Parts: sequence; C-alpha cells; structure tokens
Amino acid sequence: ETLGLVGESGSGKSTLARTILRLLEPTSGSIEFNGSDFLKVDRRTLASMRKRMQIIFQDPYGSLHPKMRVGKILEEPLIIAGYGNRAKRRERVAEMAGFVGLNPEHLKRFPHEFSGGQRQRIAIARSLATNPELIICDEPVSSLDMSVRSQILNLLEDLQEKFALTYLFISHDLTVVEHICDRIAVMYLGKIVEITSKKELFANPLHPYAWALLSAAPFIGAREGRERIVLEGDIPSPVDPPEGCRFYTRCSHAMEICRTMPDLRDVGRGHLVACHLYR
Ligand code: SF4
Repeated sequence: ETLGLVGESGSGKSTLARTILRLLEPTSGSIEFNGSDFLKVDRRTLASMRKRMQIIFQDPYGSLHPKMRVGKILEEPLIIAGYGNRAKRRERVAEMAGFVGLNPEHLKRFPHEFSGGQRQRIAIARSLATNPELIICDEPVSSLDMSVRSQILNLLEDLQEKFALTYLFISHDLTVVEHICDRIAVMYLGKIVEITSKKELFANPLHPYAWALLSAAPFIGAREGRERIVLEGDIPSPVDPPEGCRFYTRCSHAMEICRTMPDLRDVGRGHLVACHLYR
C-alpha cells in the first residue's frame, strides 16, 4: 500500500517521518511496526528493525555525500548492515543500480555529475540496499522538474510492485498524491484530521481543512467544481497549539464545542475524521 500524508508546510509531516525512523526521538507515544513497539526494543532489535525501514529525502542534492562516488554511496548501507564481503557488496551495488536504471559506468561518478532526477534514482537505489519493507518518501519529487517527476513516480510504482514495498508518501502536492497513493491521511499541526481511501477523499472530503486543501489544488479543485477556500492566517506554532481542535483558529465552521479536541472517528466505509461536525 501507499499511504499519502498531506498538509501544508509546518503541519509536521517531515517530523513524523523522522520520528517513525527515530532520527528524532519522540517525547511520548508509541511507534508500532509489524506489532513491535519501536520505542521499547533493545539496541539489537532496533538495528534489525531499522533495516526494514528506509527513507528517501526531498533534496537529492543534500542527501548524497558530494565527495563519495556513487558506488561507494550505494555500498555504505551494506557495510553498515554487515552485508557479505567486498565482492558480494559490489555485486549487490550493481544490482541496486540496475533496479533504478543506472549503469555500471555511473557508479564511478560523483553526485554533482548527475541531474536532479538521476540523483533521486541514486537515493532510491540506496534505500533498497537492505531489502526494506517500508520506505518513507519525504517529498521525493517536489524539487524535481515537472518532466522528470512522472518518471520517478513510475519508477517508485514499478519498484513497489517488484519488491512488495509499502510507502508512506509525504507531499504537499495533491496531484502527485492522487497519482501514486491508495489511502491518504490529512495532517494539521501534528494531528491526523482525516484518513480514508484516495477515491473517497477526493470525492467526499469531510474535514474543513481537507476542503480547503482540495479546493486549492490546481486541476483537482477545478475538476470537482469546488469553490476556492482561502485559509486565513498562518498555521499556528506547534510549540503552543490552540486548545481543543487545532484547526479552531482558522475554521469558518468553528463552534463552542470545538474548544475540546475531537476524536478521530470512523464515519463509515473506513473514512475517519476528527471534527465535531460529525458527532
Ligand atoms: Fe472546525 Fe470545529 Fe471541525 Fe475543528 S472541530 S474543524 S473547528 S468544525
């Protein structure tokens, strides 16, 4: 499955991604992966669980070491994972490069010799090194030209099919999410406010924040004949979020009860929403 995670800048999408991988330590809560709490396992189990989750970052310019050749960049996670001897690792590196359409000659080059799209292919190849089950794609195409976006999205889809991968796909671009995701979660100020299938969200968004996001998306909003909803004000600071519903300060449907936090409730057909309009 590909689960999309959408929300405007500052909603906490990347923080969630980094926290799932424990690149940031959470202050509370739990992170469950295949039934194990990622926060309660010992170091050894943590290391083996980490191999099963990988991340592709937004910026393929910043995420690849500029002074390492591509072959070395791809070999590094194998060394960390204790994968085989040098010859075995080289074999695996060539295989990983082939999965993303790079050839053996590319492995001798440095990242600056590649375009943004090719760099993102290198980052994707690196993420496959340890045969992960989950890959977190943190805005993987937002820094790329429109012309190469669909190539990278198609590559991700092909790899998902080939390796039975699960993606958590983070994006602020709903047209990209529409292309690749099965289900979509909408996040506002660190909270999931709505989660449902892509089809259901686009046809029948329930949360006022989702209405605004969808109405503002080029093509999607216009296609569905939605009137543009312009959100007033900036997203509040996550350090001091509003009490009750976090969308309270920007919601044109706010009521007195919205000063209390709504639960995320299933309103039917697996469509979950956190809003007092659906009590
Ligand atoms: Fe708006 Fe109230 Fe729903 Fe929050 S709970 S989105 S403030 S109507």
